[in-house]
Amino acid sequence: MPILQFENVSKIYNNVTKALDNISFSLDEGEFVSIIGPSGAGKSTILRCCNRLIDASEGNIWFDGKEITKMKKKELRNVRTKTGMIFQHYNLVERLSVMENVLHGRLGQKSTFAGMAGIYSEEEKLQAFQILKELDLAEQAYKRCDELSGGQKQRVGIARAIMQQPKMILCDEPIASLDPKSSRVIMDHLKKINETKNITCLVNLHQVDVAMKYSKRIIGVTGGKIVFDGSPERLDTAT
Ligand code: ADP
Ligand code: ADP
Repeated sequence: MPILQFENVSKIYNNVTKALDNISFSLDEGEFVSIIGPSGAGKSTILRCCNRLIDASEGNIWFDGKEITKMKKKELRNVRTKTGMIFQHYNLVERLSVMENVLHGRLGQKSTFAGMAGIYSEEEKLQAFQILKELDLAEQAYKRCDELSGGQKQRVGIARAIMQQPKMILCDEPIASLDPKSSRVIMDHLKKINETKNITCLVNLHQVDVAMKYSKRIIGVTGGKIVFDGSPERLDTAT
C-alpha cells in the first residue's frame, strides 16, 4: 500500500518560478528511494510538499491514506509528526545539548511550554538515550551541539526524527556538507533504520553514485519534471 502519493502536483513560487511541473509518483511503505537531479531541479520542493512545509499550487498529495493538501492545522500536525525531516545544515538548536535537541523532536506532541522548560518524562529520556546509543552517540548525549562534528550533528538530526516515531523520513541533501567517510556513516544509519524499523525513506542526493549504492529505486528530476524512475541498473544503461 502506498505511504505517499503525488498526483499531478505542480508548484509555482511567487507566480513566476515553476519548480514542479505536473509530477506524479507513489512510494510504498518501507521503500528507500533517492531523488537525484541538478541544483534547482525541484528536489527540495518535492520534500517540502510532503509535509506541507510549503503548499503545492496544483494537484493532490496523499500521506498514509489521507489527502493532505486541504488538511486543517490539527490534522496536519499529525502528518508532520509522522514524517521526520533531516536537513543539509542539520537545523539543530546549537546551544542546547544533544539530548535536548532529540527530546525537542517531541514538541509536536506536547505543549511548547513543557518542552522549553525541559519537562520530559523519564520514559522519554530513556527512549531518547536508547536512540542515541543506536546512532553511536551515547558519549555525546550531554554535550552541546556546537561542540560536535558535522557527522555527529547529522546523527543527532536523525535521532530527533526517529524520536517522533515517524512512518517516513524526508532527507534533504543529508550528506551534502559532509566528507566521504561521515557520508557513508550517515547513509549506513539511514539504510539500517529503513530496514530494521520499516521507516520509508525519501532522500534528496546530488551524488548519483551514493544513490545507486543505497537505493533500489531512483527518481531523477530535472526542470521540475520526473525524467527517470527506476532501478540503479536501469539508470546505468540509460546514461
Ligand atoms: P533543488 O532542491 O533540486 O535544488 P529546489 O526545489 O530548491 O531545487 O528549487 C526548485 C526551483 O524553485 C529553483 O528554481 C529555485 O530557485 C526555486 N525556489 C525554491 N524555493 C523557492 C522559494 N522559496 N521562493 C522562490 N523560488 C524558490
Ligand atoms: P539548502 O540547499 O540548504 O536547502 P537553498 O539555497 O536551496 O538551501 O535554499 C535556502 C532557502 O531559500 C530555502 O528556504 C529555499 O526555499 C529558499 N530559496 C531557494 N531558492 C530561492 C529563490 N530563487 N527565491 C527565493 N527563495 C529561494
